[in-house]
Amino acid sequence: MHFADVPGQNPAKAALVAAVESGRLPHALLLLGPEGCGGLPTGLAFAQYLFCTARTGGDSCGRCPDCTKAAALEHPDLHLSFPALKPGPTKAALSRNHLPEFRQFVRETPFGTTSDWMTHITSEGKRGNISVDEMREIIETLSLKSYEGGRKVLVLWRPEYLGKEGNALLKLIEEPPPDTVLLLVAEATEGILPTILSRLQTVRLAPIPVEELTQLLAEKHGAEPARAAAVAAMAEGSYSAAVSLLNHHDADRFATFRAWMLAVFTGRGVQLATTAEELGKEGREGTRAFLDYAVHLLEHTVRHRAAPALPTALPADETRFVSDLARNTVSTQTLARMAEAMGKTAYLVDRNANIKIQLHALGIRLVRLLQGRTTSNA
Ligand SMILES: [Zn+2]
Repeated sequence: MHFADVPGQNPAKAALVAAVESGRLPHALLLLGPEGCGGLPTGLAFAQYLFCTARTGGDSCGRCPDCTKAAALEHPDLHLSFPALKPGPTKAALSRNHLPEFRQFVRETPFGTTSDWMTHITSEGKRGNISVDEMREIIETLSLKSYEGGRKVLVLWRPEYLGKEGNALLKLIEEPPPDTVLLLVAEATEGILPTILSRLQTVRLAPIPVEELTQLLAEKHGAEPARAAAVAAMAEGSYSAAVSLLNHHDADRFATFRAWMLAVFTGRGVQLATTAEELGKEGREGTRAFLDYAVHLLEHTVRHRAAPALPTALPADETRFVSDLARNTVSTQTLARMAEAMGKTAYLVDRNANIKIQLHALGIRLVRLLQGRTTSNA
């Protein structure tokens, strides 16, 4: 993958290239950015840049043997680590067991989320992890000489999945083998041990600008310009969210959302249970996409209330809903808390919680939030 294949992230790309050019590349970097903004592709493009023997114009050449091998994720000095599944009750989760699937996943959906990756390798809604055995293997492998005589690069996708095993990584960062670059690609710092964080040089990745996302949806996914713009505005800089929004029939999603909100605003328990039941049928990925969509609409409402004159770039039905809700007496703080509760549920749904129970509990929580503060209009 070239840097040119990764939309947005120009400041990050420039910083990475400058670090290499100046000969002051830190041996351990944290690429930190929100889901769907392209952390993994940026890390892989940078790895290819490091291997390339004919770099040009701040990017890899894409033609030299090192580029070809890196692009196929088959370079012998490119080491990959990512959430994996235990092949059996007594066997450790190891990335290398999933390498062919991972290559296919990156080839087909380079902007895929970790949840997409899990769906790619299992239909059972399991959550992967990065095991201590994996860390031991990596430390051993990286302590050996490189195959091709140059650098060794480790791209570790989602160090948040290491948990307490992060201590093993600490050893690697503190005593780096020679000519080794560690690239950790994370979405949040919360799940990473502070001792590790303090030893990493952080490169921040930004949400993809709306204009760039609009262009991608039109050019690579054949979306009509108006629809591409509307979806890009909804996706908050996430390529994966944009594609998921594009692939789902908005009319259905909006109708479900409106019915659900009606049940929440009127506090109808039976209706809440029915909607949770209906939504639950969408499965983990569908529910996650629905909750992301609901959070976006509430965020648009808060923004619309602050600046009603600004166009929302949403489809007509959603625009009407957002401006009606913005005029409602529910406080901005309550709307923000509702969005936060939905985001929390999306997180739990991602992590293997029972979908229907979570959705029902969320509905009840939203009703309580509303009943607590429906009178003030902050
Ligand atoms: Zn090259």
